[in-house]
Amino acid sequence: MLQQTTYLQRAGATFLALINDLKRNEAAAARDLGVSEDLVHEIVAGERPITREILDKAVKIWPVNERDFFPLHDDAAEGVVVMNKSQSVASSRVLQRAGRDYYEYRDTAMSRVAMIRPEWIKMLQIVHDNDPLNPNVEWNNGHFLFQFTYFVGEVNYYYEWNGRKFCEPMNTGDSVFGLPFAKHSFGSRNPQSPALILALTYGGRLVGDAQHELGILGDESACKYVLPMDNAMEAHAALLRFHAANGSYSCEYLATASGIKKARLKKALSGEVALASHELQALADTLRVPVRDLLVPQLDTSNGVSIIHHKDAPSWMLPTEEQPSYCMRELAGSRVTPYSKSLEIEVLPGSTPHQLETGTHQYGYNLGPAPATLGWICDSVRHSQVVQPEESFFIKPHIPHWFEGQDTTRLLILRVGGKIVGDALLEASIVGKESLSRVVAETMCWYNEEGSHHGDHVSEPGHVLAGAEAAVR
Ligand code: FE
Repeated sequence: MLQQTTYLQRAGATFLALINDLKRNEAAAARDLGVSEDLVHEIVAGERPITREILDKAVKIWPVNERDFFPLHDDAAEGVVVMNKSQSVASSRVLQRAGRDYYEYRDTAMSRVAMIRPEWIKMLQIVHDNDPLNPNVEWNNGHFLFQFTYFVGEVNYYYEWNGRKFCEPMNTGDSVFGLPFAKHSFGSRNPQSPALILALTYGGRLVGDAQHELGILGDESACKYVLPMDNAMEAHAALLRFHAANGSYSCEYLATASGIKKARLKKALSGEVALASHELQALADTLRVPVRDLLVPQLDTSNGVSIIHHKDAPSWMLPTEEQPSYCMRELAGSRVTPYSKSLEIEVLPGSTPHQLETGTHQYGYNLGPAPATLGWICDSVRHSQVVQPEESFFIKPHIPHWFEGQDTTRLLILRVGGKIVGDALLEASIVGKESLSRVVAETMCWYNEEGSHHGDHVSEPGHVLAGAEAAVR
């Protein structure tokens, strides 16, 4: 259904979707833009890029932004990107703090398709104690991206939360999940052995469109969205009030329509009482929202982090205890990012490779000591590539893949939901498979000039042409 398209074809489909939304056909769009209809047609067909002049004119006359015209570049057309060690070493840079070499950074596998920014970082600062106030520790200012960190060697993890500083001595295999903007730092406890981290930072739901919308709304308006998460009852009540305000409902109306006594509903809306589940369902029905939209997730981080020492990480054999291909271990994570999973996969030699597939973007790093072969299927074609220790890879969602090796080796895996998780996943499901093809690559004007029966002879009812095919029509 979702066949491969070129960048120009995707740009053409994006342009068509955009003028469809504005209820312009090609002729009307050409008239607005002051260009020939042929030119607009060629852009829509993916035969010609949009020019700077057309773009400038479009954002001047239509309620659109420059970024709306540009699709993503696909740098993982075969489903996988592998970064070898020499490429990683070539990206090395040593950054100083307080005039001292502090970290060496190296890039590992990344893709334009996913907002995962995984860095290999070597600690150059040696510490001789576990004091969180050690003056040799240079703290950062925190950052927007979530961070999952995997530790190799004897590394101290420093983190700050609500003005309090902490130090957690970490060892190989330990891991931590950290919330955005929490200050942190790392130091090596042992100058004789390597002290590394794999700092896998990734964007959550706020990255991209949401971030840009907040940028327009400004601080004051943006802050009004924030629920008081340190008090679950109050956060829940604030969420109920948010939905009540969206519909400008009165308390009387909501009480009558949901069958909840007015005094009780009033208390629920001010966070004094918690509604029973049947009452919450009745309120959700009245508000015409799914009950899940009225629930606030419970925070499971402690002082902004979730630390998992290797020995405490839950583990299981896959696919079965009797005939395992992999020993799986779940590393640090949080309910805050329910579509992110960090795993250590021990690839067992001589086993039948077990096929894996997830709807998340996936990053992997071979922790060693042996090479592993990554096999995968993309567009019905089987591929395989050897991933040496210290090499890394990126796998697109829904790519069936497996690992095998002559000797036991361990892979660090971070899976991160892209944009099609949570609400977007449910919306995609409601749009349905056939229509989703038009979300992927708009192929047609929203109406037929010749009437609604035109085209019945070229396509069956409900059948939608995929991008590349239709783009040349
Ligand atoms: Fe960081």
